[in-house]
Amino acid sequence: VSAAGEHGAHRVRLERLARALGEHEVDMLLVYTPVNIRYLTGFTGTNALVLVSAGGELGGARGRFLTDFRYATQSAAQVGELLEREIASGELLDAAAQRLREAAPDGGRLGFDDATLTVAQHARLREQLGASWQLIACGGAVERLRAVKDDEEIARIRGAAELADAALTRVLEQGLVGRSEREIAVELELQMRRLGAEGPSFPSIVAAGAHAALPHAEPREQKIPVDVLVTIDWGALHDGYCSDCTRTYATGEHVSEQARAIYELVREAQAQALAAVRPGPNGRELDAVARTVIERAGQGEHFGHGLGHGVGIEIHEGPRLSRTAGDEPLLAGNVVTIEPGVYLPGECGVRIEDLVVVGGGGGGDRGDGGDGGGELSESSGHRVLSGLPKELTVVS
Ligand code: ZN
Ligand code: ZN
Repeated sequence: VSAAGEHGAHRVRLERLARALGEHEVDMLLVYTPVNIRYLTGFTGTNALVLVSAGGELGGARGRFLTDFRYATQSAAQVGELLEREIASGELLDAAAQRLREAAPDGGRLGFDDATLTVAQHARLREQLGASWQLIACGGAVERLRAVKDDEEIARIRGAAELADAALTRVLEQGLVGRSEREIAVELELQMRRLGAEGPSFPSIVAAGAHAALPHAEPREQKIPVDVLVTIDWGALHDGYCSDCTRTYATGEHVSEQARAIYELVREAQAQALAAVRPGPNGRELDAVARTVIERAGQGEHFGHGLGHGVGIEIHEGPRLSRTAGDEPLLAGNVVTIEPGVYLPGECGVRIEDLVVVGGGGGGDRGDGGDGGGELSESSGHRVLSGLPKELTVVS
């Protein structure tokens, strides 16, 4: 892949960030989190630092990339001429401070991510920069950009979702009853890797019967019995992007009436929240759609988590969909999960989760003709990336 073609998207991201820095009233932003550096430059190493200047143009000295000698070859290939690149000896923060002092002896305002820079790093930077530089908290500046995906990112997330669906389909062909939760989780990971995933996007959850009442249950060695519900929450990491999906299956025709009723309640809440996904409403309003359905059925106290979260390079990122989410509206290009659940302690648990593109962007249909995944709902302004059916399905 040519560096120029590869960096088209990175240039756009860096320019959007540079413009956003004006609102934070800083001259320069220090980016130090590997995942944010990867998003902005394509660099996949673990030790690098980027300084981005405020303003629209990034030619020449408007941005600087620092890494250490271990990454000399890799950064030349991945970052190339995108930013002025430097192999620093010693601490990257010290080298960055020195460059800033040289570039602007009279000082300026340096933004940093107060959510990740440690207190010790902040103190060190403070000391190295001297009194003329001000340090300004700019947490979330890059994360806000990351929440709105471009078409290439959406295509990668869709690819991860398709791969994850295919992997679970293979695992379910071997049945669930008599195998341990852990065996299913291991098999799922193996299938995802065989199909080309870098790995799972998070440790898979496979929880049967009463164990599924723990929303983040860890798979046990215990064998899965007949006639219970089994919740499987899994995702693939593919091309650097995550997928996330949950399905709940019955392991026989004779699951309890209570379990069946809870399943249908969650399915209804999930369907209503999904139908409300479009650019405009905020995460609190969407959460309320599902929560109202569950509360009216008297199960409000058993839906203890938020409705969903953004998914991208990381499995949990912005925007959040919950009772405590902010006022920011959902935007076209957000990729979020819709995952209500009801958990009855000691009895059963049900969660149903779809991965959804707000606004429905990201190119054509799934193109595999399979399972209705990638379904575009023009009227409601979203596209569902999760392809497996949601009617209660028996897998024994
Ligand atoms: Zn999930
Ligand atoms: Zn999730």
